[in-house]
Amino acid sequence: MPHRIYVDGEWVPAGGGAAIPVVNPATEEAFAEVPRGDAKDVARAVEAAAAALPAWSARPAAERAALCAAVADALRDRTDELTEMIVDELGMPLRLTRPIQVGAPVRTFASMPDIAAGLEFEERLGDSVVYRDPIGVVGAITPWNYPLHQIAAKVAPALTAGCTVVLKPSEVTPLNAFVLADVMHEAGFPPGVFNLVSGTGPEAGEALAGHPLVDMISFTGSTRAGRRVVELAAAGVKRTALELGGKSPNVLLDDLDDAAFEDAVRKGVGACYLNSGQTCSALTRLLVPRERLAQAELIAAEEARTYTTGDPRDPATRLGPLVSAVQRERVRDHLRAAAAAGATVVTGGPDAPEGLERGYYVRPTVVSGVTPESRIAQEEIFGPVLVVLPYDGEDDAVRIADGTAYGLAAGVRSADPERARRVARRLRAGQIRINDGAHNGLAPFGGFKQSGYGREYGRFGLEEFLTTTSVQF
Ligand code: NAD
Repeated sequence: MPHRIYVDGEWVPAGGGAAIPVVNPATEEAFAEVPRGDAKDVARAVEAAAAALPAWSARPAAERAALCAAVADALRDRTDELTEMIVDELGMPLRLTRPIQVGAPVRTFASMPDIAAGLEFEERLGDSVVYRDPIGVVGAITPWNYPLHQIAAKVAPALTAGCTVVLKPSEVTPLNAFVLADVMHEAGFPPGVFNLVSGTGPEAGEALAGHPLVDMISFTGSTRAGRRVVELAAAGVKRTALELGGKSPNVLLDDLDDAAFEDAVRKGVGACYLNSGQTCSALTRLLVPRERLAQAELIAAEEARTYTTGDPRDPATRLGPLVSAVQRERVRDHLRAAAAAGATVVTGGPDAPEGLERGYYVRPTVVSGVTPESRIAQEEIFGPVLVVLPYDGEDDAVRIADGTAYGLAAGVRSADPERARRVARRLRAGQIRINDGAHNGLAPFGGFKQSGYGREYGRFGLEEFLTTTSVQF
């Protein structure tokens, strides 16, 4: 159990008082705790990162990337331990946790050598040489829903770019970050290049966002906390990158035959329910031609009922608990408010699933009979709640799809891939999946509007941590 934070290449005690308990959402029991780092701990870590910056940024990018590849190997070796740990912290079904919560971050670290090799860090422009330099000390603040994946998305490219890093992981799922720090230490990163301070958002997070020696804050989390981080960063004119929430649409066009429509609705339920709906890019609004609304409701409800809810370690489980009591109550409140406002709960609802008295479970739910402007169709719920919305024609579908404060992801399904592409190009969302196109871990990921700005993964993700210096001759 972690009792220390990782600063300047050493495990040191944190000064912030009582430790933070880590709760297993399937049992509601605290099974571990982590130190509550405070502003002083953050300052120590930031100073170490600033001191380590000149030597680290002077190393060739290929060397920095090679160390990241070594981290990938060491994380891969610890897949079983990380999988068990993240199941306990987060509650995602075990058979999905392994490939998604551990496999994806391993791939992100492993991708660094190729990405670094493909980047020009120096180019001639007339009488100038333009150097692409690391932005400096990076503060990384990450959420609980894909904990190690979100950490890898920031730490690997920042370090490869030549930045040094202070990581403040989510206090809800912090344990995996301690394994990562251990791995970084073993891999031989010089002291101060990577630092880990566990703690709460208002304390450690705000101290990091406001510290004068931090050059950039890369934040993933809620729009509310993102706004606060930017306010604090603005005082020091820091660069910020924000990956925030979403309310992403899944548009089924009107040219699908019955079999394709059924398949699209069923897969659409899956694209909403992954990780119990606690996925920022979940496709939570299913847009269907008005004449097919009843058909969509029927299929979606039938599919939702196949999402066996329960123990994340049971191989039959398709839906684990939500991460915390707070999250569960938020989702239930949304469902109660929607029902009170006249929504049709097609299946599921706010009551606890039968036979699951313990654990933060919510029933797989499908909601219909609401307008695109209603609260349940506008706000991020972050639970297994699919909202079905009818549209009248392609223009109306695009209007509804883009008609929220967010713009993170979208799906388009059509019998005609060209038509799907044309509709996709009209949408303002950072990542659009056509006809269930497979996830690409090297494609840029990020938002429009209140889903944030900045892109993660692959070459585009690494470029976020670079700036330019031009030298004239
Ligand atoms: P959160 O905003 O509560 O917490 C995220 C991180 O920010 C945590 O480390 C937390 O400690 C920290 N934090 C909280 N308040 C802070 C403050 N005042 N100052 C500095 N740091 C602070 O979000 P969460 O509940 O962990 O995650 C869920 C949210 O994250 C959802 O809205 C989801 O959509 C979003 N998310 C977005 C993406 C993306 O890539 N766009 C990915 C995952 C999650």
